[in-house]
Amino acid sequence: MTNAAFRRCFFVPTELENMQKGDYLYAGKAKSVYLTDDPKRLILHFRDDTSAFDGEKIQQLDRKGMVNNHFNAYAMQVLEREGIATHFEELLSEDESLVKRLDMIPVECVVRNLAAGSICKRLGVKEGVELHTPIFEFFLKDDARHDPMINEYHIRAFGWAEDQEVERMKEQTFRVNDVLIRLFRDAGMLLVDFKLEFGRYEDELLLGDEFTPDGCRIWDARTREKLDKDRFRRNLGNVVEAYEEVAHRLGVPLDDAGGVRGKG
Ligand code: C5P
Repeated sequence: MTNAAFRRCFFVPTELENMQKGDYLYAGKAKSVYLTDDPKRLILHFRDDTSAFDGEKIQQLDRKGMVNNHFNAYAMQVLEREGIATHFEELLSEDESLVKRLDMIPVECVVRNLAAGSICKRLGVKEGVELHTPIFEFFLKDDARHDPMINEYHIRAFGWAEDQEVERMKEQTFRVNDVLIRLFRDAGMLLVDFKLEFGRYEDELLLGDEFTPDGCRIWDARTREKLDKDRFRRNLGNVVEAYEEVAHRLGVPLDDAGGVRGKG
């Protein structure tokens, strides 16, 4: 879909239509980041690249950038409505969004509601065990060291964030969990776990990065079928189809060949 056609389907304010995409800033594993003519704004380009195991396994999955861009926009807007401040500003095209430029804190905040993934390996617990209370974990963003688990003492000792920022990240991550558990439950799904990243903007700490099926685990509530990036990690197939299924159940409008889909 061309940008002009995109604007006919999705409302884009005039001032954003004129937003100039500037120099390429950096590329993550699934997104590229561009400067804009506003020093306080960046453009995120959601690519079709899909990676796992710290970039060891990489594949191009058709439509994934488009699906994740719309999914992220929807999730961030739901969270904003619930009073959680995020960097998200506007959808710009089918695979690009405008965000506030943050000074990122180099840690990942993970919350788990059921056991899956690394906690199963680490503690020898069975996948799918329901946790009595959610577990919060910090990891250092450092691919070369496979994102090691850290705690608040490491964050304080190395000056990665202030104590009040640590408290705020935990508080906001649990609030996100409360909001999204309900959202997925109402659509027949379980939010197993997810990862968030935060950054500083002026005097505030905002939710940054993305919330998409690349960075969380979502299971069908009845069958426990995996509907997230574990399909890619475990070669289960139909990766983007599963992301689209989740989007469809939530009513996320997708820009597919048939135009806007979902309840919108
Ligand atoms: O691998 P692990 O079980 O610790 O991951 C917990 C959650 O955080 C999963 O939903 C995973 O997709 C997400 N995650 C992520 N990026 C990472 C590490 C974990 O999105 N670098």
